[in-house]
Amino acid sequence: MDSQNEKTGSLMTEKEMVWDLSQLVESTEVSAIQKQLDLMVAEAERIQREYHSKIGGLNAAGLKEFLILRDALTLRFEGVVKYCVLMYSANSTDDVAKQLNDSARRATTKMDQALAFADIELGRLLAADPSMVKDPGLSEYHHYLEKIVRKTPHMLSEIEESLTIIKDKNGVKAWELLQSDWLSTRTFEMTAKGEKKTLPYGQIIGFYQSPDRNLRKQSNQIVYEGLGKDDVMWASAIRAVCEDHVQMCELRKYPIPMAQSLIDNDVDLQIIDSLMRTIEKNVHLYQKYLRLKAKLMGLDKLANYDITAPLPEAPEKEYTWKDSRREVVDAYSGFDELIGSWADEMYERRHFDAEVRKGKASGAFCAGWLAGKSAYILQSFNGRMGDVYAQAHELGHAIHDYLMSRAQKPTNCEVGSCVAETGSIFGELLLTERLLSKAGSKEEKQAILSNVLDEFGMAAFQVSARVFFEQSMYDTIKQGQFLDGETVAKLWVAARDKIYGDSVEWLDVMKWEWTMKAHYYMANYRFYNYPYVYAQLFVFALYKLYREQGKSFVPKLKALLAAGSSMSPRELSKELGLDITDESFWEKGMRQAEEFINMLESTM
Ligand SMILES: [Zn+2]
Repeated sequence: MDSQNEKTGSLMTEKEMVWDLSQLVESTEVSAIQKQLDLMVAEAERIQREYHSKIGGLNAAGLKEFLILRDALTLRFEGVVKYCVLMYSANSTDDVAKQLNDSARRATTKMDQALAFADIELGRLLAADPSMVKDPGLSEYHHYLEKIVRKTPHMLSEIEESLTIIKDKNGVKAWELLQSDWLSTRTFEMTAKGEKKTLPYGQIIGFYQSPDRNLRKQSNQIVYEGLGKDDVMWASAIRAVCEDHVQMCELRKYPIPMAQSLIDNDVDLQIIDSLMRTIEKNVHLYQKYLRLKAKLMGLDKLANYDITAPLPEAPEKEYTWKDSRREVVDAYSGFDELIGSWADEMYERRHFDAEVRKGKASGAFCAGWLAGKSAYILQSFNGRMGDVYAQAHELGHAIHDYLMSRAQKPTNCEVGSCVAETGSIFGELLLTERLLSKAGSKEEKQAILSNVLDEFGMAAFQVSARVFFEQSMYDTIKQGQFLDGETVAKLWVAARDKIYGDSVEWLDVMKWEWTMKAHYYMANYRFYNYPYVYAQLFVFALYKLYREQGKSFVPKLKALLAAGSSMSPRELSKELGLDITDESFWEKGMRQAEEFINMLESTM
């Protein structure tokens, strides 16, 4: 045990809870790492000198050579960059980590700048000769090139593109910044436990999940009442961002406001329409769950501040690091031996940083390490059920990396957001199955099921309200109406009610809920939302198929994950015999959710 060990609750942190990043580099000497970063920039600049303004003249064989060269550069220096960035995320107060992280970021920016010419020149080359996409010699890069072809018609001229960057800086990007700065600098007066306090936004929202219902209500009321007072500011920002988008769609020749996002997410309208129709047809299912949850909480009806609140009777079970490892690895092993052994290897090789420490990044993430055909995971483990779930979730991302890095070039490992959560959410469901089978009391079962269903409800249904809301803002602009604060609030309430019906009682001030959602204001990030709906329902459907088909389903999921971004979600699903343009596929996901809801009902 070393001096870093601290007692966290009743859990001792162990050496195996601190990751070993030395595997990422040949030498951990700071000077050696610095040298590698310099070399990375030099190599990128060498490729730039060799290929700049020459991609337009390449034939298929020449293009392949270039793409292979770029992939090789990624693999060669991936480890050293990860080493610096991960070291910093584990402890941002460490001076060496600070210095290395800064160097790595600067080197990466320089490398990206040196290679930025490639996609622009590639777009022009493929526009001039679209047949090259289908060249058999380039088969491994087929879908990557196809995506470039899909984007090219919407590019403006070089001068227009550079003007757009300038316009955005003091236009949509400034609105985005204003929204987040304004929100993070608001303070709110609240009386908790007889004590009056002034709390910043980031702190008062901590009460939303409090087991004390009154605190949940009070914090919601105070925050949204306060935010509603600035409606002129929020409306100006959201209106500018939306109207800018409408005008840019015209300039870039996008037929509908969602078009750019469809291209970015590698999907099409037929798929998303079918997905959203399935959601609309099943709102009663979600509402049924919300009514059951009200009963479990001893209420006639849930209020908005109860929707994701913890159940009052939920047992506070504590897991040690070893318990957690066993539960998660066994959950994966039950699905597939090889996947289980990879999950175990992540612990064995110390690719987890789970110790709670000051200066560590909050939340949890998984960073793939393609060159090492593995991954690294960061989380702060406190022994709660949520931590075990986070571990299963991040390990699902790691398994995705294990499979993808063995089958694909780095270019094909840029997985879009509709598919990126497949391994992770599937892993959570495997863990759910295991925990349910071992649950000792009905309260424990209820806690597990409501945890899964809360998450499903938020990602599939609550986010769908945001899809409807965003669409309705563009429809309103198209009709020539002005989006002032009250108008936007009305659109939000209408979209929300489409999902919740009368199953939830809303505080009046919740009409201002749209004001705080950063995504609505983020520059050039319209329709960020439906991929969450997609991912959630997609995995529930896959899990249902697994339950129906048993072991014969296992190779299908592995193939799906191993494909990385080498195929579009549509092609990929077709390969597995699934039709994601058909509502009956998405219905499968709903039937899985219904099964969980029925299980919950049977415990009552
Ligand atoms: Zn994730």
